[in-house]
Amino acid sequence: MRKLLVLSLLALPLAAQTLTDRVNSELPQLIETYKTLHSSPELSTQEAKSSSLVATRLKEMGYEVSERVGKYTDTQAVCYGVVAVMKNGKGPTVLIRSDMDALPIEEQTGLPYASLNKGVMHACGHDVHMTALLGTAKLLASMKDKWHGTLVLVGQPAEEVVKGAGAMLRDGLYERFPKPDYAIALHDHAGLAAGTVGYVPGYMMAAADSVNVTIRGLSGHGAAPEKTKDPIVMASEFVMQVQTLVSRENSPLDPVVVTVGSIHGGTKRNIIPDEVQLLMTVRTYKPEVRKRVREGIVRVAKGVGVLNGLAEDRMPVVEFLEGESIGSTYNDPALTERLVRAASKELGAANVVKIDPLMVSEDFSLYSLDHKIPALMFNLGAVEPARVASGEPLPSLHSSKFAPVPDATIRTGVRLMVASALDLLK
Ligand SMILES: [Zn+2]
Ligand SMILES: [Zn+2]
Repeated sequence: MRKLLVLSLLALPLAAQTLTDRVNSELPQLIETYKTLHSSPELSTQEAKSSSLVATRLKEMGYEVSERVGKYTDTQAVCYGVVAVMKNGKGPTVLIRSDMDALPIEEQTGLPYASLNKGVMHACGHDVHMTALLGTAKLLASMKDKWHGTLVLVGQPAEEVVKGAGAMLRDGLYERFPKPDYAIALHDHAGLAAGTVGYVPGYMMAAADSVNVTIRGLSGHGAAPEKTKDPIVMASEFVMQVQTLVSRENSPLDPVVVTVGSIHGGTKRNIIPDEVQLLMTVRTYKPEVRKRVREGIVRVAKGVGVLNGLAEDRMPVVEFLEGESIGSTYNDPALTERLVRAASKELGAANVVKIDPLMVSEDFSLYSLDHKIPALMFNLGAVEPARVASGEPLPSLHSSKFAPVPDATIRTGVRLMVASALDLLK
């Protein structure tokens, strides 16, 4: 049956082939690639083999490929960024990005091609993204009569720790290689049916700030609190008060999340400790809201210190971890409208759906240089349609059970990205 299909495709003159025909003839090899990538995941900043596979394939397709593009702030660390360029006459420059890293999760999907790297798993679908990038690259390289301009394909490391995009830009991504007029990407979606594509005009994902707060007191006997400054009581006050930044100081129409995900202090029930440490994540969309919430955290921490009569030099310490923080992901509305039209034409309007934004974060936004370069990230449905329709609880991204359906997901991803690139480069 498959042989017949392949033969009948071969019989079609190249020009008469639809995009689906072309993708279908590439699909068996792409699925093999996907399984290879899925079974050999690598953690953020360690993407040596994945990046090498991506680079090798892109070279074979005729791209001009550079490896190890990127500079982390830790100058000792190797950055495994891949940049592939194909120039095809006059026209705009389009950047297509795939991330490459996996997560520290023990896979529990039971798939025959499950991770062979113990404790590491492609649970965010970056293997789908790499495969879709390779499929897109192959098709566009074989259709050079259908587009004009420059393609810049980016294999980005260390997305999960929001360091990779910054590292590649720091290493001259836009100086050493053609600077894009548009930047596009896709991310698989654990709640959308395979075969469909989701989009969000405007803010799509939140800015994330990682914040450490240390509340310092004065230790002593748990039975003599009057001789101490109790940092556990102060930390409790802080945890409650900091939520009012969301509920009382912020417009309910501007999404904000303030989460204290870790709190540590004390060793024994009858000892009042010297300090308590809180680790927080803060999510916002608009830069002005982000600034206000960050300032608010500092004010609340200081307020708790004042309320409890702490000396000036014992006030709570608030530390923003800029290396673990990132701005929001914003989809340029005009570019979104344009490419939604192109995607609908290729995939059918019913398969391209507007979806809700999320409070998770990404570093793709950095490629837009603060909205100066129109950028768009699509969401790619990755779930068996019947499972979505059944309403059963589905494993989320970053779950040990997340298992995209390869065929339909990758086929749709390639059609989406090729149709988008062809529209921008026509
Ligand atoms: Zn992720
Ligand atoms: Zn991801």
